[in-house]
Amino acid sequence: MTRIPDRGQVRERLSTQLRPVRRALVVTSVYAVAGLLWITFSDLIVGALVTDADTLSQVQTWKGFFFVFVTALVLFLALFRLLTRDRALLRLQHDQSLALRKRERQLTVLMDSLPGMAYRCRYDDHGTMLFVSEGCVELTGYDPDELMGSRAISYGDMLDTESYRHLLFEIRSALAKEEPYSVEYALNRKDGQQVWVWERGRAIHEGADGTMLEGIVLDISDRKRLRDELEELATRDPLTGLLNRREMSRVLEEELERARRYQRPMAMLWIDFDRFKEINDTFGHAAGDSVLQSVTGLLEESVRSVDSVGRFGGEEFVIVLPEMGVAEAQETAERLRRQVSATPQPLGDGRMVSLTISVGVAVYPRHGLTGSALCAAADKAMYQAKTAGRNCVALAHVQEQVHNEQ
Ligand code: GH3
Ligand code: MG
Ligand code: MG
Repeated sequence: MTRIPDRGQVRERLSTQLRPVRRALVVTSVYAVAGLLWITFSDLIVGALVTDADTLSQVQTWKGFFFVFVTALVLFLALFRLLTRDRALLRLQHDQSLALRKRERQLTVLMDSLPGMAYRCRYDDHGTMLFVSEGCVELTGYDPDELMGSRAISYGDMLDTESYRHLLFEIRSALAKEEPYSVEYALNRKDGQQVWVWERGRAIHEGADGTMLEGIVLDISDRKRLRDELEELATRDPLTGLLNRREMSRVLEEELERARRYQRPMAMLWIDFDRFKEINDTFGHAAGDSVLQSVTGLLEESVRSVDSVGRFGGEEFVIVLPEMGVAEAQETAERLRRQVSATPQPLGDGRMVSLTISVGVAVYPRHGLTGSALCAAADKAMYQAKTAGRNCVALAHVQEQVHNEQ
């Protein structure tokens, strides 16, 4: 069986062996020299050994036959070797092209099954696409032909300026470290809809052609929505939609840190509904829920966008007011108290009920230097408001700071 040379051997032979024309010339020259030597020396030997003219003629004829037989045998062996090798090479080529086609088919199936697209693009300012898989239509709304070569739109133009800057920054950083990059960003489809995608790719350096980027872009809108919902669930109170206690504590610490760093005041209000139990007992728990939702909506609407409103417990709420001093915090608390008491709240069955709140005010750094100290001071002030007859605002005592910081 003819051994098929592997690719390395073929490459080596191609580089070390003589070119076909020189090889043919060498072989033909060897044949010509051997033939001439044979004719010359065999004639000399036969002429010296055989003197009879008839015998000499017969020997010359047999010598001719012998020469033809030997050359035919050599030709047969050479052709046999050559043709067998040709056949083996043809079979190898055929098998390789079959394997290549199979691989291409598998790759196409794989790329078309992606919930997104595979791409190859230039590393330039617009992300000029040289290849995009069929998934491009579903992901972006554009045909691959429209995107390739930026015929209708460049990839970069499908991203908001900020997102594209972020993507380029991530790619640049990954390239500097010679690592693959993965980035999440929003992409604007042809129909104007926005999808969230996750892109992963790597750089390929192709000499004179420059640097290319190859990778995949997957649609992660569903995953992102789910993640946002989970985040929302983890940080919000389901009844009122306000920040929950844990998230509110985090916000409080964050704002306190900022107040400390910039040496600015920061206020917090501690709010408790007055005689709320009576509303529940008189109209039912569902009516109480309706009032809770309505009052918290009112509180949220009545504060600045930088302020945070959170539900700390049953009907106890905390409002964090960054950059606010004592006088302004007291005014805000008073305004909220007045607003709630002046607004009848819906019970959910068409009827309305009046409600009042008691508010405790504590300000950083005057009434506490830490989150827990401020909370304790504001809570205590709220109880003073209750004791003072409810529907009123009370400011924490300065000595609370000393007490709480110990
Ligand atoms: P006070 O003026 O002393 O605060 O009187 P209060 O009746 O409001 O007393 P307290 O604050 O101790 O009671 C809170 C009540 O709020 C008890 C509970 O039934 C009610 N409550 C707590 N959470 C909810 C809720 O999610 N929905 C409803 N409907 N009621 C709640
Ligand atoms: Mg209460
Ligand atoms: Mg309470």
